[in-house]
Amino acid sequence: MPASPPVILWFRRDLRLADNPALHHALASGRPVLPIYVRDERLEGRAIGAASRWWLDKSLRALDADLRARGGRLILRSGDAEAQLHRLIAETGADQVFMNRLFEPEAFARDADIAHGLKADGVVCRGFNATLMCRPGAVLNGSGQPYKVFTPFLKALLTAAEAPSGMDAPETISVPEDASSEAIDDWGLHPTRPDWSSGFVGTPGEAGAKATLEAFVAGGLKTYATDRDRPDRAGTSGLAAHLHWGEIGPWRAIEAVRAAAVQGRVPAGEAEKFVAEIGWREFSAHLLHHFPYLPERAFRPEYDAMPWRDDAEGLAAWKAGRTGYPLVDAGMRQLWATGTMHNRVRMVVASFLIKHLLIDWRLGEAWFWDCLTDADLASNVQNWQWTAGSGADAAPYFRVFNPVVQGEKFDPQGRYVRRWAPEVAGLPDRWVHAPWTAPPMVLAEAGVRLGATYPRPIVDHVEGRERALAALKAVSAHR
Ligand code: FAD
Repeated sequence: MPASPPVILWFRRDLRLADNPALHHALASGRPVLPIYVRDERLEGRAIGAASRWWLDKSLRALDADLRARGGRLILRSGDAEAQLHRLIAETGADQVFMNRLFEPEAFARDADIAHGLKADGVVCRGFNATLMCRPGAVLNGSGQPYKVFTPFLKALLTAAEAPSGMDAPETISVPEDASSEAIDDWGLHPTRPDWSSGFVGTPGEAGAKATLEAFVAGGLKTYATDRDRPDRAGTSGLAAHLHWGEIGPWRAIEAVRAAAVQGRVPAGEAEKFVAEIGWREFSAHLLHHFPYLPERAFRPEYDAMPWRDDAEGLAAWKAGRTGYPLVDAGMRQLWATGTMHNRVRMVVASFLIKHLLIDWRLGEAWFWDCLTDADLASNVQNWQWTAGSGADAAPYFRVFNPVVQGEKFDPQGRYVRRWAPEVAGLPDRWVHAPWTAPPMVLAEAGVRLGATYPRPIVDHVEGRERALAALKAVSAHR
């Protein structure tokens, strides 16, 4: 009897073995499974950024090790995904492809084309959802329209979405010998010359995701609702990159925090606050699905008329963390050094770029895309547009974060800025968020020479704010 043909398991952003519906169904077919990852720069509509490549490198290595521990391995190929799938099919006789869907509109359309092309060759493609609580497009309001406001969306999501039952990682996976693989070392995903990643944080891979969730449930979750706004505390989960790469699914995180609440280990309100934040991730995916132009254009079209300034110097100072505002500078340096930035500080630095400097939010979004290990098209674009005031359910246009007040409120002892902007570390708390207001004696004692050891503010807060408000008021009047 001829051996039954293998099936292909096409990994993308679902880099895990537990709770992986495509893997589960591929194994349930009873056929040999060919796990493949294709490095196709065009797959998500835009090439992934440098920090994301760093994470992907480690996550793929972890996945390969996890597969090898079960008798399998990960097949690596690069180039056009469809061509690579056809090649693997020709080499092995596989007749089915199992995959977890990508929901970014461009990726989704491309997957549909690929499935169509494979079907013409007699190969069946089966798609699942491993990355979101609910498939985008499934939650609509009473008139069948997409929600544009977060709170009713969340309510509807939590009513409609159903947690899939848990799927354990398989104990063994046998992968046919004949399929060749490229070597990950040849992909050059880890930076060299220079290697700027020595301070990057996080442990990519499924085991890292599990450990991160466990540590959060045992620690930060208890005070999440308040501490999540404190960049000077370890108050958040650190799960964003793990969720983005699908090393853990959102439901498992939700179940873990809710279980802790049911067992009385954390207050229910803290757990539900975390669930709501996962809800923002869902809302972002939902918005991008319904409004696929969001990476390029404002959700509120009048905001596309913003009189953005062409300010290469200001943009460079912002990227380098040399704006003269310690909280902004600390955030930008944290991003560069670690591949992540605290959410509160993301809002402050984004607001500073858009409002104080009046620089197009798309330039900031692109920088984040390159520098964040959790860079996610839907979440990044949604949050940038939220800060710009141009998004759905966005911050009102007249909300201009004051980086000094934000620092005093959320980093009251200046621990966060002292860590990332050590030039001002010697200043007493009272001046650490606004060094230019300190008396000369205080500056001298702290070893701060403004304009020499630490920049003077590149824009005056009041002037920047008024300029932004005038511009924003003018465009928002054209609704
Ligand atoms: P936690 O507070 O532990 O939150 C739990 C999870 O909820 C996060 O891991 C994330 O998946 C989700 N989440 C939390 N806040 C948000 C939010 N505002 N929007 C969407 N999802 C959220 N998040 C990304 O995952 N990718 C991005 O590219 C991204 N870009 C951002 C850009 C800007 C300008 C801003 C203001 C925020 C951005 N965020 C982005 C949202 C948020 O800052 C990060 O998700 C969060 O800082 C990650 O840390 P954490 O996992 O410890 O979060």
